[in-house]
Amino acid sequence: MNMSGAVAGPTVQIIAIGDELLEGRTSDTNSRRIQQALGAHAVQVSLIQVVPDREEAIVRALDRTGAGDLVFVTGGLGSTPDDLTRDVVARWAGVDLAEDPEVKQLLQERWKKRGIRTSPGSVRQSQVPRGMTPLPNPVGSAPGLAGGLCGRTLVMLPGVPQELQGLLPAAVKWLDENGHLPRPRRTLLWRTAQASELALVRTCSDIKLKFPRLEWSWWLTDWGVDIRLAAPAGSAGADDLAAAEPEIESALGRLIYSRRSETLPQVVQRRMLDRKATLAVAESCTAGMIGATMTDQPGSSGFFRGGILAYADQVKTGQLGVPEDLLRDKGAVSQETVLYMAAGCRQRIGTDYAVAVTGISGPEGGTEDKPVGTTWIGIATPESVFARKYRFPADRERNRLLTVAAAVDSMRRVLELGDGDPPWQAADSWCRPS
Ligand code: ATP
Repeated sequence: MNMSGAVAGPTVQIIAIGDELLEGRTSDTNSRRIQQALGAHAVQVSLIQVVPDREEAIVRALDRTGAGDLVFVTGGLGSTPDDLTRDVVARWAGVDLAEDPEVKQLLQERWKKRGIRTSPGSVRQSQVPRGMTPLPNPVGSAPGLAGGLCGRTLVMLPGVPQELQGLLPAAVKWLDENGHLPRPRRTLLWRTAQASELALVRTCSDIKLKFPRLEWSWWLTDWGVDIRLAAPAGSAGADDLAAAEPEIESALGRLIYSRRSETLPQVVQRRMLDRKATLAVAESCTAGMIGATMTDQPGSSGFFRGGILAYADQVKTGQLGVPEDLLRDKGAVSQETVLYMAAGCRQRIGTDYAVAVTGISGPEGGTEDKPVGTTWIGIATPESVFARKYRFPADRERNRLLTVAAAVDSMRRVLELGDGDPPWQAADSWCRPS
């Protein structure tokens, strides 16, 4: 969601070409990459069109752009017969295609190095619509193309994501140097966990009213919600940015897990390694997902020791030491059980910290008392054991993902606040072992 004030600069459109994008075989990740590459500039993508590899569809998409627009076209720049983009754009703009000797030479050298004879198809890639500048491709063969056609500024990039990504810096540089991009923006980023987008919007609503020149964006991530605030560099908005920064920090408080691009598990890993602490997990409903998440990053062996996958009651009692009568009386999804799971895991694996989860992910297993989504998360530290109850509102898959995110964030908060402090303000929902 973007809650921007006025955004300067040209209207940006993206045309993503490829049958595979419309048939659900490939997701259009290129458009996202283009948006990210433009992120530092005060421009906003207003329309993304995904069209098949057909001339009339590409022409219709080009006709939907307007004079003055900045138009990115991705896909169909290769050497196979279904790669039409170069020819269609030239015909649409009424300009010739001319062979670019430098591009041709580069292509021939590339093929020669690989022991491939130049084919007529590959030579097509050296054809450039008149008025456009080829941008060398550091990853593949087809060059990018940039230039002014029909009153628009066009940037054509290959469909292969690695090639597109390799070419984007050169494309943005070309746009910048040729005056097609407004001044870079100053941006601030906050990555938050454990609060909904709506709750964050509400929390920041007064600050937003106070600084109307700032451009706000909010988006969901695997770990929560990211908030970005932007203003053109050197503008009055940039001063507002500096003034708003401490107010946002204080309003969001502990919800913020990072100001940089690092993910929540990366933050936990960094803090664990800083403390030279060790972690183990006891997982029921997530059955190993937290362990997998904690070991996603290289370097995780520096703090992560292992876990007990306690899906069945017998494993909770036998491997984690949850008393059988307690489990029978209170149930597998209960505060008491998760406290024992966390404490047992920490003690049996011999770590500084342990995270335990037990919940009803659904679709079956819910009761009136404990509906689907009811989940307990427990954390054992060198000083104490805490537990907190959640009620996740989604289906099985999402409930499990939400459990992982909440468990990792619980660990992050414990590490930030220090041992012994309940990591949430709602201290009454926490308990200590009796
Ligand atoms: P090639 O030389 O491979 O023909 P090209 O520029 O013609 O390159 P396409 O043929 O359109 O690119 O796409 C090549 C592959 O790149 C596709 O099979 C698809 O997997 C991927 N691709 C194309 N467009 C996108 C997109 N918008 N987002 C993500 N992947 C894409």
